[in-house]
Amino acid sequence: MHTKKVLLVKYGEISLRKGNRKHFEHALLDMIRANLKPVNNGNIRVSREQGRFLIEDTLGDLDVSAVLPRVRRIFGITGFCRAIKTTARDINDLCEIGHAFFSDYLKSVAPRSDGISFKVETKRSDKNYPLTSTEISCAIGEKIFLAAEENDLRVDVHAPDIQLWVEIRNDVYFYVRSESGEGGLPYGSSGKGVLLLSGGFDSPVAGYLAARRGVEIVAVYFHSPPFVSERAADKVKDIARQLAMYTGGVKLCVVPFTETQVFLKENTPHEKLTIFLKRAMLHIASRLTERERALCLVTGDAVGQVASQTIHSLAAVESATRFPVLRPLAAMDKQIIMDVAKKIGTHDISARPYEDCCTVFVAKHPENKPNFGVIEKMEARFFAELSPIMDEALNNAEFFDILP
Ligand code: ATP
Ligand code: MG
Repeated sequence: MHTKKVLLVKYGEISLRKGNRKHFEHALLDMIRANLKPVNNGNIRVSREQGRFLIEDTLGDLDVSAVLPRVRRIFGITGFCRAIKTTARDINDLCEIGHAFFSDYLKSVAPRSDGISFKVETKRSDKNYPLTSTEISCAIGEKIFLAAEENDLRVDVHAPDIQLWVEIRNDVYFYVRSESGEGGLPYGSSGKGVLLLSGGFDSPVAGYLAARRGVEIVAVYFHSPPFVSERAADKVKDIARQLAMYTGGVKLCVVPFTETQVFLKENTPHEKLTIFLKRAMLHIASRLTERERALCLVTGDAVGQVASQTIHSLAAVESATRFPVLRPLAAMDKQIIMDVAKKIGTHDISARPYEDCCTVFVAKHPENKPNFGVIEKMEARFFAELSPIMDEALNNAEFFDILP
């Protein structure tokens, strides 16, 4: 009989997707193994254990504090349990081990005058085990209760202070708490999308949310030197690096946008310029989407936030692409977006001062209810001239592989 500390990893929605389940589990396993590589001295093993992943050290107790920070950000993982794993199966042995584990945990809990309430809950994935879940819970619960000093512990099956979980699988696991993971779907499992990434607060959050739903991100930034400084491009790279903490890496395409911008300034009415600039971004991003064999665009638009994000404006912009445009922030308030930006570590980078290419020539009173039929007709008049300028911009784009 052998007992040691391990980490049990829970994953969520992918277990619902029947057809793709194997594929997702492998994607997730690979991701966990890759993230652990830098701390793996060859003894850390990651395996599947009936609807869970198991991270263990083949030599003994796992150093959970070294492992957890490296796997906490992986999309698709819903939770982690610091558990002990034992090869014991006899119920008397399980009672001993469960009691020892519980007593150890209890030392970290402040005592109470009316005693601490507890409950044992068993999940039995191994249906051949000779006792039922209830019988196992009762046996272990009784052992713990009888061994306690009088008045220290009481049983509460409805709202216990402490719940001891017992999972009967190929081996047996005990744990008390689970910590939540990132959730979402494994990175890349939903296909690829092109993220329009600016230096602002919104688009990094949009990228994170799309990536969290399994969309592999190729980021594109439209850069307009000398109207905006090189520092603006550096800022976008820093943001991409922060996103890469979640994805393992981000491909960033920096498109020189100055000629396109100057052309549009000279050929469109001032109050409509922002709309045409946004359309040009979507045109170029769509061409990049084709080249990258991606299937959608992702932007940081939130309905009503600024003039170019009214429903009228979004409609007038969106017809520039034939790809679906994901707007994960569409219905979110600014404060919630900022909270997420803080959580994922992009907030402070976005807060650095910089110029936005769209603010450089922007009208004081931009139109906020453009008619998209009118916008399309106007664009059709100069599109033959604009199109090669945009092609040239994409041909001159620089690509960076941004690593965390
Ligand atoms: P953000 O905070 O992401 O900059 P915003 O609230 O400033 O957004 P806009 O400037 O209207 O709003 O931009 C809307 C969206 O258009 C951005 O979220 C981003 O997806 C895209 N976008 C704007 N400017 C650029 C740029 N220079 N390069 C790439 N994408 C851009
Ligand atoms: Mg912006």
